[in-house]
Amino acid sequence: MEKFTISTSSRTQFIDITHEVSNAIGNTGITSGAATIYCPHTTGGITINEGADPAVKRDILHMLNSIVPWEADYRHMEGNSPAHIKTLLTGSSAQVIIENSRPCLGTWQRIFFCEYDGPRKRTVWVQAMGR
Ligand code: ZN
Repeated sequence: MEKFTISTSSRTQFIDITHEVSNAIGNTGITSGAATIYCPHTTGGITINEGADPAVKRDILHMLNSIVPWEADYRHMEGNSPAHIKTLLTGSSAQVIIENSRPCLGTWQRIFFCEYDGPRKRTVWVQAMGR
């Protein structure tokens, strides 16, 4: 399994990790198969979405913050229930097809780490399977 770390700079933030994932897949030596990109944190997620227009990521975060406000009738003592709920919405992992040692993505797609309780140092795990 490959791992890499990133540092986030905001409470909620999408960070393009496509380059890091591509490097991690390259390190495995797998040329054709599939990879799981996994976030081992309960207040961060992984998703694939548009990376061409930065307004898309802004709009997604804007609506996530609207749907799951920071102030509400939460009981979790740590005080970061909204981050846990946003993680639930995007999920903790994504899968990509590997071809020619690289992740296959659509023209506008990028892989994002989703920070919901930053800023923090985060770890991403990548496990590739194939040949
Ligand atoms: Zn918590």
